[in-house]
Amino acid sequence: MKVMKFGGTSVGKPERMHEVAKLITADPENKIVVLSALSGTTNALVEIGQSAARFERENAGELISKLSNHYHDFVQQLLNSEKAREHAISIIREHFEFLRIILRISFSEALNKDILAQGELLSTKLFSVYLEEQGIQHVLLPALEFMQIDEEDEPQLELIRSKLMELLAKYPANKIFITQGYICRNAKGEVDNLKRGGSDYTASLVAAAIHATVCEIWTDIDGMHNNDPRIVKKTIPVEVLSFDEAAELAYFGAKILHPTCIWPTQQQNVPVKLLNTMAPNAPGTVIQKTTSTSGVKAIAAKDGIIAINIKSSRMLLAYGFLRKIFEVFEKYKTPIDMVTTSEVAVSVTIDNGTQLHHILRELEPFGNTEVQLDQTIVSIVGNEIAETKDVLNKLFEGLSSIPVRMVSYGGSKHNVSVLIPSSYKILTLQKLNQKLFGLE
Ligand code: ASP
Ligand code: MG
Repeated sequence: MKVMKFGGTSVGKPERMHEVAKLITADPENKIVVLSALSGTTNALVEIGQSAARFERENAGELISKLSNHYHDFVQQLLNSEKAREHAISIIREHFEFLRIILRISFSEALNKDILAQGELLSTKLFSVYLEEQGIQHVLLPALEFMQIDEEDEPQLELIRSKLMELLAKYPANKIFITQGYICRNAKGEVDNLKRGGSDYTASLVAAAIHATVCEIWTDIDGMHNNDPRIVKKTIPVEVLSFDEAAELAYFGAKILHPTCIWPTQQQNVPVKLLNTMAPNAPGTVIQKTTSTSGVKAIAAKDGIIAINIKSSRMLLAYGFLRKIFEVFEKYKTPIDMVTTSEVAVSVTIDNGTQLHHILRELEPFGNTEVQLDQTIVSIVGNEIAETKDVLNKLFEGLSSIPVRMVSYGGSKHNVSVLIPSSYKILTLQKLNQKLFGLE
């Protein structure tokens, strides 16, 4: 059995949804199909929630009507028969009625999660009506009956597995299952979600839970590219990546895959394929346990980084100094990305500055601190990159005109990261595209 996940743009237009139906019936393998909300819907629901939170009921009401109209237009083109359209319209009515009721009762965070869940509930139900109209046998699996997170918002893979297996066992002859991405239940049993972009995470968790043959992530780009296509002229898709390489790339800014969603498939060794609904036969990118190819695979950049330097002569020959510094970051739940040290100074980077003033205050006793905002981490990723001849030469040649602030090398065999001022990002990515890939 395999998992196929389709993102918002892949289901965002009626003709795209028709295409999805073709793709899921194209091969005979049993499958669980995970769908996002139609593109734009979750953003609209976020806005509706914000209006409701501010008691701007009229504004929220208008936003609801606008979204509702969009769905009415959508099903006119999605479906052919009057019977199917009527069915779809009753579904739309039910969900928008629910949103309007929410507006009338007092707002809470739990209620907001209910608002956000409507997008995926609608997309899957409408897709199901279309499949039914086309005579495509399938079962709709409610994600709220098996996707479960704990008090720390962490998915409970074992529980997900047992609940999902129980559900699947009810339909031994069925070949196509449809379910919602993103939404789940929390430890209190309330409707919750896996955070924005979380449908990839759902797909990865489901794939790990059922030990799928493959977890296919369908978007509108042909796989992961070696560099940011919005910044450099020429990029090429990367054919194979290891899980470790993919995790580094996703974390350091490659937009294609949500960074959290690598671990479940990696843990269960389920390969992930990044495929393009617009070019279904293109090879895309395969992410798997090992890759036979070495050398540089891709470059990714992550903006909004803050660098903090702590200089202290007390660090000289002292032990426990780093621990005390790290404890400050731990106390304020702020993850550190890069670290470099010398005998008398340590530099770290963070991407979440909300606790910065507390952190700086607590770092004061340790020495002089210096902060630089608007930094970018450029990460060069590739299997065994650290041992690949010439990579470092080319890298530093490419960086010769860039004021590099930090270099992180050796922490992982698959990654070299440099910190630069964000104003140099475009130049850096272009120079490295030339030096490392021979591309413009
Ligand atoms: N619909 C959700 C979002 O837009 C989840 C997803 O698309 O992955 O964030
Ligand atoms: Mg998405």
